[in-house]
Amino acid sequence: AARLCRECFARAFEDEAHAEIVRSGLFRRGDRVAVGASGGKDSTVLAHVLKTLNERHGYGLELFLLSVDEGIKGYRDDSLETVKSNEKTYGIPLEIVSYKELYGWSMDEIVKAVGAKSNCTFCGVLRRQALERGARLLRADCIATGHNADDVAETVLLNLLRGDAPRLRRCTAPRTGGEGGEQLPGGAVPRVKPLRLAYEKEIVMYAYFLKLEYFSTECIYSPNAYRGWTRDLVKQLEAARPRSILDIIRSGEQMRFQDEERAGAGADGGSRRGEQTARACERCGFMTSQRLCKACVLLEGLNRGTPRMALGRQGERLARDAIAATAQSSTPA
Ligand code: SF4
Repeated sequence: AARLCRECFARAFEDEAHAEIVRSGLFRRGDRVAVGASGGKDSTVLAHVLKTLNERHGYGLELFLLSVDEGIKGYRDDSLETVKSNEKTYGIPLEIVSYKELYGWSMDEIVKAVGAKSNCTFCGVLRRQALERGARLLRADCIATGHNADDVAETVLLNLLRGDAPRLRRCTAPRTGGEGGEQLPGGAVPRVKPLRLAYEKEIVMYAYFLKLEYFSTECIYSPNAYRGWTRDLVKQLEAARPRSILDIIRSGEQMRFQDEERAGAGADGGSRRGEQTARACERCGFMTSQRLCKACVLLEGLNRGTPRMALGRQGERLARDAIAATAQSSTPA
C-alpha cells in the first residue's frame, strides 16, 4: 500500500467513502439523513465524513444526529455528552430518544430484571426500534449507520455460524429497506452503511489525524460473548492476511440463496420459517414478520415479570396471550 501523509490519507479515506456512496446510490438529492450517533469513533467519523462530502460534492442532504439513550449509567450518559458536543462542533441538529420514555424501561432496569446474560438481546431489539422511531420523528428518508468493514465481516460469520440465511443475505447490503421507493408495511425507514468497506483501523486513524472528539469506553454490560468470538476470529484472520476482512464481505455478497429460506433446516435442526413476509405489528405498528414484533414480545415479558420467557420458544405463547389480551381489551362491552 502507498505511504501517505496525514492530509492525503484523510482525503483518500473520504474519496473511498464518496465512491461507495455514488456506486451504491445511497442517497438522493434533498434526502433528510438521520446519522445514528452513539458518540463512538465509527458514528463520529461517519458524521464528519458525511458533512465534509455533502459540502464538497453538493449532495444536497439535510443531516441530523440521532442518538438512542438506553439508560446505562456511567456509559451512555457520558457518551451522550460527546454527541452533544459534536452537535455544536458540526452544526448538525441532534435528536435523542430514550428507552425509558419509549418503553417505560431503562437498560439498567432491564438488566436488574433479566440478569447480565441476555441483556444485549433486549438492548439490540429495542435499539433498532428506537432508531426507527427517532427517524420518523425527524421525518428522515434514511438512517445512516457507522458500521465498518470489520463489523460487516463479523456479522457475516455470525450469521453463518447461526445458520441465519435471511440475515446473511441482508447483512452485506449497502442499503436495506424500501428498495426502489417501495413502502413496506410498518413503513421501515431504509438504512445505509456508507463506511461498510472502511477498515476499523482506518477509522481510528482518521479520527486520530483529524483530532475528532469521540467516546471510547466499552458498555458496562458488554461483552456480548458470541459476537466477541467472531470479533477475535476476524482480528486473527486480519493479522494473517489483511484482505481477509474484505474477502469475507465479498463471500457474503456472492452467496446464492435458493429455496433454503423457504424449506431448509436451520443449524439447530429446527425448521426454519418460510420466506418471511413483512407486515405491521398488531400492537405497535412497526415492521415485523410475525403478528407481534420482537420488541413488543420482549416488553410483554418484562411487564409480566417473566422476561426470560420472551427469549425462548415460550415467546410464541407469550405473543399469542398478548394478542388475545389486546383483542379482549379492544372489544366493546
Ligand atoms: Fe446494549 Fe449490550 Fe451494546 Fe451494552 S453492549 S449497549 S447492553 S447491546
